[in-house]
Amino acid sequence: MSTVESPVTIVIDRLAAGPTAPAAGGSPLLTRVAEVVARMGPAPWSRRIIADERNLVTLIASPPGGGNRPHWHREFDEWWVVLGGRLRWELTGGVVVNAAKDDIVWVPRGTVHHIRNVGDDLSLRLAVAMPPAWHVYHPCEQCGFADDGPREWCA
Ligand SMILES: [Zn+2]
Repeated sequence: MSTVESPVTIVIDRLAAGPTAPAAGGSPLLTRVAEVVARMGPAPWSRRIIADERNLVTLIASPPGGGNRPHWHREFDEWWVVLGGRLRWELTGGVVVNAAKDDIVWVPRGTVHHIRNVGDDLSLRLAVAMPPAWHVYHPCEQCGFADDGPREWCA
């Protein structure tokens, strides 16, 4: 298992000197969710939408019954906007959050989150994290879900 230094120092070395037009090559100025869904095809999938020194925004699609590998984060709180379907967050301490389209879910750092699509339709959620987004995988305390994948991973 790798060891991660914490807290993370974020170095911002690309500063704006004044008002400027958007630079080419960055995150798209406009993302149409329906177009991403059509391009990505059948779930499960995830697609990075915005990435800079402080933001890591990812659109995630899960089929019914699908979800994430339970994990927690050392350095940042994570939040999501549910764009479709019905999702359940199983959290450390026996806390359960059920959410549907247009709901916003916030989970503080250190809290294991196991997210599952508990509906009958495709679920879509926009995940907002901070780079470097280290994931520390941990069995779900509620349903016991665990796997033998890598114990840590950086998004
Ligand atoms: Zn997470």
